[in-house]
Amino acid sequence: MYDIILMVIDMDISLIRGVGSKSIDYLKKMNLYTINDVIEYYPYRYNIIRVIHLIEARDGEVVTIKGVVDSEPRVSYINKALNRMAFKLRTDNFIINVTIFNRAFYKNSLKLGRVINLIGKYERKNNTFTASDIKFEIINGVKIEPVYHLINGVKNKGLSNLISECFNMHVDIDDYIPRYLIEQYEFMDKLKAVYNIHFPTSTDNLKKAKLRAIYEEFFVFMFKMNYLKYKYDLDNKGLTRNIDKNKLNEFVESLPFKLTDDQLTAVDDIYNDLVDAKRMNRLVLGDVGSGKTCVAVIGLYINYLSGYQGAMMAPTEILARQHYESISNMFKDVGLRVGLLVGSLKKSEKNKVCEKLENGEIDILIGTHALISENVKFNNLGLVVTDEQHRFGVNQRSNLQNKGIMSDVLYLSATPIPRTYALTIYGDMDTSVIKTKPNGRKEIITKALKEKDLKNVLFKMVEEIKSGHQIYVVAPLIEDEEGESNLNDVKKLKEKFDTAFNNKVRVEILHGKMKNQEKDEIMEQFKNGDIKVLISTTVIEVGVDVKNSTMMVIFNAERFGLATLHQLRGRVGRNSLQSYCYLISNQDCERLKVMEESNDGFYISEKDFELRGEGDLFGTRQSGDMVFKLGDIRRDFKILAQCKTDASKFIADNIVNNFSNYPQFRNVIKELEFID
Ligand code: ADP
Ligand code: MG
Repeated sequence: MYDIILMVIDMDISLIRGVGSKSIDYLKKMNLYTINDVIEYYPYRYNIIRVIHLIEARDGEVVTIKGVVDSEPRVSYINKALNRMAFKLRTDNFIINVTIFNRAFYKNSLKLGRVINLIGKYERKNNTFTASDIKFEIINGVKIEPVYHLINGVKNKGLSNLISECFNMHVDIDDYIPRYLIEQYEFMDKLKAVYNIHFPTSTDNLKKAKLRAIYEEFFVFMFKMNYLKYKYDLDNKGLTRNIDKNKLNEFVESLPFKLTDDQLTAVDDIYNDLVDAKRMNRLVLGDVGSGKTCVAVIGLYINYLSGYQGAMMAPTEILARQHYESISNMFKDVGLRVGLLVGSLKKSEKNKVCEKLENGEIDILIGTHALISENVKFNNLGLVVTDEQHRFGVNQRSNLQNKGIMSDVLYLSATPIPRTYALTIYGDMDTSVIKTKPNGRKEIITKALKEKDLKNVLFKMVEEIKSGHQIYVVAPLIEDEEGESNLNDVKKLKEKFDTAFNNKVRVEILHGKMKNQEKDEIMEQFKNGDIKVLISTTVIEVGVDVKNSTMMVIFNAERFGLATLHQLRGRVGRNSLQSYCYLISNQDCERLKVMEESNDGFYISEKDFELRGEGDLFGTRQSGDMVFKLGDIRRDFKILAQCKTDASKFIADNIVNNFSNYPQFRNVIKELEFID
């Protein structure tokens, strides 16, 4: 027999010994296609099994003991689904009665005299050990048992065996930590580390193994980020710009408000970047309603003054349309030509927009990010603004660059992740932070209420409507067809409110399943005040701006994360009127208390980190970029920060010879370049 030495780990799982077509189907369902996938399918937690002596066992406590089978097992069938097996076990100097349910299939393995481990509870009074499981591989002392996320039909043990088989194949895995760093940090060898994550030989080794794996994940992430920046900076000749500063000042002065200090600083940053010989790659980070869009619009105007076209991309069509309206409005006195390009336009309309764009008859084009994916040709594009940056992420960034778009780029993000994290995660960009909200903004008064207190909310709604204001209502579902979930839904709430207001108040619904045209009409009528109450799902989450709305009521608020609640609440309080937010929930929920406590997105994001501990970083998971197998940006932040430094130096040292000593990184780069 030959050992198979796999230099390339992208080998199909069918090569693993004992893997047949049925297993392959299961593995594919778990998104495991190659041996590498399997090997890097890490446990999400571990059971620490400590074998103890019976005399140490406290009554009723779950323990693991070791002993010898001392009588032939007897099985009784209680009914079809339930059987009970009983036998005697000798452990140390005791003989105890063991019972175990639904393990009759072990009967033949339990030969007299066989040594086994039992997990279960001991009851001293009647000398009975009620076992929950039997282990046949003998554990002495301590065993750390990996626990994997599974799907139906796959057992933990089976998966573990399969992973073990992979290691028997003498696999050789690509290592994404450069050798000099491995030496510097005295990291465990890659294969040994991966092995120890699956089959830890001690808690100490497990810790070292995980540290290494986390470092590697973060290093690759930071490599991608920094590489994009490097590529951007290389051959980074900015556009030549002559800007008439008087015209710019005139425009800023013509705005109906004075810019806040933070806005002024951000505008300065953008101005300097645009004039500078380097291309701009800047992120404006600020809470909902802090005035980022306004800053971006000024950026677009600067770009226009220097003779270039601009583009603004939004994550949804509703938002794109809204930007289109407000931006057209802001630019109407200075004569800028603003165009809109979104998916729902007729083909002929699209063609017309594209034609104008190519001929230079449109100064600013607004659309969804399809703008970049589609074959849209600009005459002389100078600045791209992408709104709600967290919905785009590395992939989109890379996409922009891959399309050979050499213009300046400005990103806007309302994801209020704590600043230190943001600066690291968006480390490839320059950053302007807008901390303060425009003057005259009042805190939104926020209350968590039970559903039985809905009367108070209705009362408040009537008051607001009488004052001529509009109200948002949010529910988790459009329609609860099966009526199973006990959740409020948009359609039922409409009936409820129609009844409550005796059909005297115009209440309408808005949700993702409606046609675009319908949505637009509803939004339009809500904006101009014909519709008083708008009930919707979270489609209004991002950016919708109706200044006259002063109240938001969120049903089943416990269903939403802090990030979403905060984004939703940001729809009200958009001018100097006092606004209100009611969070309706029958559960006592810590998140709702945080919402009552504060309006500050950065504070809320800190709390979100605290409450959740691990996991999804304030909604960034949806971008797909920040899913780490083992790393946790919060818990392992120091490692992440170190990786940023290390990756940056690594790139600086190796980009000139195209990573010739590191072919594995050439593959990472190739992947980045093929992203679409
Ligand atoms: P963001 O994009 O950060 O959510 P916007 O730029 O849309 O914020 O601004 C929110 C609202 O505040 C808009 O209606 C905008 O016209 C208004 N606004 C922006 N800057 C100021 C300011 N300095 N003073 C008063 N209102 C402002
Ligand atoms: Mg420049």
